Amino acid sequence: MENQTRLSEYLRVLQHLGYSHPSTRSNSAHRDRKTDEEIRILDTLAVALTSGTRGEVIATSFNKREPVTLLLAKNTPCDATDREAVQELVKRITSPQTQNFENVLPFLFVHCKVNMMNRISKLLKALKEFRSDLQTILGIHGPFSSLAEEFPGSEEYRAWKYGQRVPSFSEMLHDLLEDIQETARTLNIENPGQPSVDLFVILSATLSMLQSSRLLRLRSTTEPSVELLHDRINYVCQYSQGVDSLIVYAKHYFPNGIPCLWLEAPADSAETIFKLKSGYKIIIERAFHRTLFPDNVQELLHRQFPYKHKWKKSVVIKTRVHAEIQLVLYLSKAYFPLDPQRPHPIGTSKRSCMCCALWIREYNEQFSTYWMTSGSHGKAYPAWALPGVDSVDKRVREEVENQVIAAAKSIHLFPQSPRSDEFRSRNTGMAVEPASIGQLIEKIVRWRSGSS
Ligand SMILES: [Zn+2]
Repeated sequence: MENQTRLSEYLRVLQHLGYSHPSTRSNSAHRDRKTDEEIRILDTLAVALTSGTRGEVIATSFNKREPVTLLLAKNTPCDATDREAVQELVKRITSPQTQNFENVLPFLFVHCKVNMMNRISKLLKALKEFRSDLQTILGIHGPFSSLAEEFPGSEEYRAWKYGQRVPSFSEMLHDLLEDIQETARTLNIENPGQPSVDLFVILSATLSMLQSSRLLRLRSTTEPSVELLHDRINYVCQYSQGVDSLIVYAKHYFPNGIPCLWLEAPADSAETIFKLKSGYKIIIERAFHRTLFPDNVQELLHRQFPYKHKWKKSVVIKTRVHAEIQLVLYLSKAYFPLDPQRPHPIGTSKRSCMCCALWIREYNEQFSTYWMTSGSHGKAYPAWALPGVDSVDKRVREEVENQVIAAAKSIHLFPQSPRSDEFRSRNTGMAVEPASIGQLIEKIVRWRSGSS
């Protein structure tokens, strides 16, 4: 219990500082083709089952012992709604009537509404930031190729939008951004009828054009807003492109449906409720194993600390074994021994947190396994429960302590600059024509029905 409390205190400090572990965000560049395909399918399954309730993360993996089963785990307890949702999703993706993601959208609009709206709203913010940086981005990106090379797959869009005329690269980019923004703003998932399905199809089609543009594909600039937009597009397109791949995969490998099993949280884990009361100075001093902070450093820390919120004197923590770790524990027993040369993919509805990434890495080293999620966002959560594998847990506690030391040092040496809201809300200076969306809907719907 003392180990869990100390760890949670360290994680609380890191979370408060907005600190994230400097490990890889995505490991997609290091995956072989088969692993990459499986991890994307598993990620999409997890996302398509996530409602968006606060704190909810779902993880998925295949138990490949015959009959192959889809295993699912959740940060929070699973209930009848979760069990019904997975049955309904599997029924939809394997149905002979299902052609593509459009047929699954009515389910997604109801089950994933909160998460979808959240992702679309983050996409809109990323578009705004991207547009405010556009002059700089275009300056770095050039020289430009032909529009066919800059925007592969945009022939129909260009023919509809410009006829015979050839627009400049920046005109086409501006138009595309505007059409995406207008579609995203108009889309109302709360009202999940056919007009919403059509709008989501349009959003997805226009996002695909931007996603495969040379500018975003090569990400030839180091502007963070380009990288951010790329990620946000991918997250929204998981509900279209991701679901399309899932349908093909499910129909090929599971034509008669997918047997599914939800895991219950392990009974012997450190899931518990307790209060954290230590002040941040004491916690940081504990990490350094000595009294610290001459007055000026302490003052600096004091100024830096209310990074996002005021430090509360006491908080109640309810720890949970995270979903991906529940799967590792269950499947490592079921599979043993595992082939250490072959990756064992785990899908997640959200990238793994700092402790899960550290724990899985250490578990793989100690037990010669090769568990892999799609990457980590590196953030710290005080409610992360020690999973109960002592030798692995110990290494994670040590590493988290090191991160507290690193974070405290970085505050002293490199004070963090606050995220600039002013920067985010700068006016783009581009006018939006409200009428354009109606024409776009009509044209793209006609183009799609003509081409399908
Ligand atoms: Zn985690």
